[in-house]
Amino acid sequence: MTTKYQRVLLKLSGEQLAGKYDSGIDTDLMGWIADEAKKVADQGIQLVIMVGGGNFARGAQIAGHGIRRVTADQMGMLATMMNALALTDVFEHHGIRTRCLSSVFAEQVAEPFVHRLANKHLEKGRVVIVAGGIGRPYLTTDTAAVSLALELDCEVVMKATKVDGVYTKDPAKFDDAVKLTEVSFQQALEDGAIKIMDKAAMGLAMEHEMPVVIFDAMQENNILRVVQGKPVGTTIK
Ligand code: UDP
Repeated sequence: MTTKYQRVLLKLSGEQLAGKYDSGIDTDLMGWIADEAKKVADQGIQLVIMVGGGNFARGAQIAGHGIRRVTADQMGMLATMMNALALTDVFEHHGIRTRCLSSVFAEQVAEPFVHRLANKHLEKGRVVIVAGGIGRPYLTTDTAAVSLALELDCEVVMKATKVDGVYTKDPAKFDDAVKLTEVSFQQALEDGAIKIMDKAAMGLAMEHEMPVVIFDAMQENNILRVVQGKPVGTTIK
């Protein structure tokens, strides 16, 4: 089967990993994602996954009342670590060779994120799940996802969202919202109605011409379809 991409980055938010719960992790849903990811890995596609942490902690929300922003972001990064560890185990349980690499120093729980090590795992056909974003505060995992995709020569950032792409207006509020199949970086940055990814992430993607696909990963075969270059979601390029 032909695929459009050979090495891809999938960004999963913490909110998605909470699935049917308000917070924490939904292991059934993680298992479902694992089976979807397996379809991609079985095609020989190299898969990097950046996980968010919003189901446990987000720096911007925690900061204040005595907690410094840097500390709050460190808490956020540790939240991503919990998701990454759980996802790694669930992936392995579903028969996918997987490694969890951490951008924060945590040798007792995960291998350190080292460029060459990540490459080696990917070349050996292992899925690489990255914890801790890129390990620095004042960033989100969206920005970290774009940065990591650039660092690892991924051909596309696949950002899984609740909606199945970019719309002209919020589809939950407006019946006449129209889905766009393609959007330019400029449009995504300038149009106030498009709030699908933070501006820092979008700016970095634009500067380095890294395409971003916004799509609903919770639909069966959608992750595989994006990799195959089939029309899914919205491509920002
Ligand atoms: N974070 C950070 N540096 C990074 C990535 C993440 O400081 O490189 C922190 C930040 O506080 C962020 C939190 O980790 O709010 C969790 O990530 P994010 O909010 O992106 O998770 P998501 O919304 O995708 O679940």
